[in-house]
Amino acid sequence: MRDFNLDNAIKHLSDAVKIETVSNIDYEKVEWYKFDDFLAFLEKEYPNVHKVCKREIVNKYAPVYKWEGKNNNYKPVLFLGHYDVVPADRSSETLWKEDPFSGVIKDGCIWGRGTLDDKNQVIAIMEAAEYLISKGFVPERDIYFAFGFDEEVGGQRGAKKISDLFQERKLQFDFVIDEGGCVIKDVIDGLTCPLAVIGIAEKGSTNIKITAKGRSGHSSMPPKNTSSAILAKIISNTENNPMPAKLTLPVQVLFEKIAPYMGSKKIILKNIKTLFPLVNIIIAKSPTLNSLIRTTITFTKLSGGQALNVIPQEVSAYANMRILPGDTVDDAVEHIRKVNKGIDFNIELLNKEEASPVSPIDSEAYRIITSIINNIFPEAIAVPYLMAGGTDSRKFYNVCNNIYRFSPVILTNEDKGSIHSVNEKITVENLKNMIEFFVELIEACNSK
Ligand SMILES: [Zn+2]
Repeated sequence: MRDFNLDNAIKHLSDAVKIETVSNIDYEKVEWYKFDDFLAFLEKEYPNVHKVCKREIVNKYAPVYKWEGKNNNYKPVLFLGHYDVVPADRSSETLWKEDPFSGVIKDGCIWGRGTLDDKNQVIAIMEAAEYLISKGFVPERDIYFAFGFDEEVGGQRGAKKISDLFQERKLQFDFVIDEGGCVIKDVIDGLTCPLAVIGIAEKGSTNIKITAKGRSGHSSMPPKNTSSAILAKIISNTENNPMPAKLTLPVQVLFEKIAPYMGSKKIILKNIKTLFPLVNIIIAKSPTLNSLIRTTITFTKLSGGQALNVIPQEVSAYANMRILPGDTVDDAVEHIRKVNKGIDFNIELLNKEEASPVSPIDSEAYRIITSIINNIFPEAIAVPYLMAGGTDSRKFYNVCNNIYRFSPVILTNEDKGSIHSVNEKITVENLKNMIEFFVELIEACNSK
């Protein structure tokens, strides 16, 4: 373990939580002065970084630091994080054991919104850099740190603008590391050791609106096919006929890697590539595993009807589609039409986000990341995985193919449940491991 100042780091994370940098899909409603406060806080608390690295602020609130290396022949690397947080809504505040923006340090934890998502990452990266600079370390290659301010609402003004700027400057990164995976226990039935999951791809998240039309009229004399009945049929057809199961690379490797630890399921998982057509129906019984092997279409919202005695002419259902790498949004729309042949309805795309590319697992960067994970978390197995949710990192495929999503923290199921919910907190032990991880990763970037 290095001799970085852990007490300082704890205090820094606690103070970072106190600055309520809550993002909002309606940018007008954001209290931007708090984001200014956060940038000023970084500047004040990390003097070495601000002395040695070049800082520029992209689109008013996204800080990008460039730590210049000695050797221009190596490609630069990029460390990402975001400092905006989701709100801690009033109705849930009573459920918090500590105020969500208090940054209370208690029972070996730092409490509050952002301690796991994602101020922990920002602070750990800054601590690592501050420490290494104090030791006189100079990297071989350029190292960039970039922190988004609107990740929680899509990252269009932060991460997207940063990646545009990098592209404009014709930068190509050797690798990008961002939040995403972590070390988790009890995720897969029968697996006793923890898994360190490294996100190498993300599903796309696309929302659609399906509208069915029928005859309106008085509810006392109903026609045969009301719009509601048509819509109900569409929903049930779609739910009963899911998109075909597919084995993508991240999931295949995940199964193969855990195979030796899976007792009686060992043989099947080891040969998953051959056996997948036979066993995918069993795998699909678990909602978690099912989401890893197919594009899912989930109905989330229904609307229609004005009065209790009037048949609505049209009714709508909204669905969130999570697109698997290898499928496209068009494939999913086509699928809905196919399983509802002969029914007249309209599908509108409310946004269009395809799955991300899949980052390679035979790169030097992936090897380095897994070896540091093995160092810090010797009891865990490092595996690639497919993320169902999105991060800022997907905006950077224009400047890098090797994008890896991993936060070096050990999370219980309860911890995972606290992200975007109540009682978010990080243990001091986790914060220490995070700093250690980034110190080692920065040092490892030095070799080719
Ligand atoms: Zn996040």
